[in-house]
Amino acid sequence: MRRGFKAQAERHAAQLRDAVNCSDRETMCLPKLAAHLKVEVVAGHRALGSADPFYALHQEQPGAFSGATFHLPDGRIVVVYNPIVYETGDLLSARAAQTHGRTRSDVAHELSHLVLGHDLREIKTIAGHPFFTCDPEQEQEANWLAGCLLLPRPMLVAAARRGEADDHVAAQHHVTIEMARWRMSVSGARMQAARGRARPA
Ligand SMILES: [Zn+2]
Repeated sequence: MRRGFKAQAERHAAQLRDAVNCSDRETMCLPKLAAHLKVEVVAGHRALGSADPFYALHQEQPGAFSGATFHLPDGRIVVVYNPIVYETGDLLSARAAQTHGRTRSDVAHELSHLVLGHDLREIKTIAGHPFFTCDPEQEQEANWLAGCLLLPRPMLVAAARRGEADDHVAAQHHVTIEMARWRMSVSGARMQAARGRARPA
């Protein structure tokens, strides 16, 4: 990742939270962020009119498709997410998608590409449908910013001070345990909380 990007991502995420009135003690409200960015977020089966391609893909290669962003000829920007729950193969309702950790990661990742102004490059075809992806560097950047949006550092430090475990943080803020563990680790929040405790009162 390019030099300075990580600090820049935290600042960028903080500005976006300000713009949608979301504090640094809560996870980003993705529908609000999407509205702010003038982006529509749509479940795959709604976008294509059928869930069949997603079921077919799930059978072939579970988890292969997470999300994609489409710039339509009429100027609309649409983020499409995989409506199939990876673990169970169930179709996710739009309501459940709001709190489903993996879907939230995928949507935050797509919105991050847009915020960062990434170009769409390679085209992949999945179950007969073309999808665009970015280069690996841009994928990393989008993942990083998505993490900052979903779990702001000040919130993680506060959770670490309260001694909350990663799975508790995940459940509380509607992210996957992997996301909570990763952000706790790369943000250095537990270390900062431990240093704070060691300081004399
Ligand atoms: Zn991506």
